[in-house]
Amino acid sequence: MIELLFKKKYFYPDDYKKTVFDVDFKKLKTLGIENIFIDLDNTLIPYDIHEADQKTLALFDNLHKLEFQVFIISNNKKGRVKLFANMVESRYVYSAQKPFKSGFKRALKKVGYPDPKTVCLIGDQFMTDVLGGKRMGFYVIVVDAIKRNSEKWYTKYNRHLEKKILQRLRRNDYEFYERLKLTEKR
Ligand SMILES: [Mg+2]
Repeated sequence: MIELLFKKKYFYPDDYKKTVFDVDFKKLKTLGIENIFIDLDNTLIPYDIHEADQKTLALFDNLHKLEFQVFIISNNKKGRVKLFANMVESRYVYSAQKPFKSGFKRALKKVGYPDPKTVCLIGDQFMTDVLGGKRMGFYVIVVDAIKRNSEKWYTKYNRHLEKKILQRLRRNDYEFYERLKLTEKR
C-alpha cells in the first residue's frame, strides 16, 4: 500500500514553506492557481487557539483581494471550523476526512468542479494534506506545524508515519528532498 503511494508520488508536495505567511500568492496566480484550499489546525492556528489574529485576518484580506476562491478544509468539527471561517470570511468544509476525497469534492462542487491544477492546497500534514491533495491532482504546499504539543493522539500517530515517509523520501529521492529544503524536525 505505502509502496504504491510512493510510486504514484502522492507524498511529494510541490513546494515547502515554513508558514502560510511565506507563501507568495501573487506568484501562485501566475502559475494558474485560482482556488486556495487551506487546512486549519496547525496550519492557520494551533489546536488550543480558536480565533484569527490580525496577521491572519490580513492574509485572508489579501486572498480575497487577489480574487481567489478560498476554502478552509478541515478534518475538525463544525463549531471550531465555522467560528474561524466566519472571522476570516472564508467558505469552509468541516469533517473533511482528509486524505479521502469527499471533503475536497464538497468544496469543488461549490465552485463548479474546476481543473484540479487550478487548486492549491496548503497544509501541515503529509498523511492528510499532502496525500489527500496529491490524490486529487492539486498543487500542494506543505508548511511546518505551528505547535506540535497540543496535537491529539491520532495526529501524533500520523506524525510517526510522517517521519517514516520523510526518511523514505530522503533515502529514495535525495535530490527532491533537498530541493524542498524541509527545515522542521519531522
Ligand atoms: Mg493540520
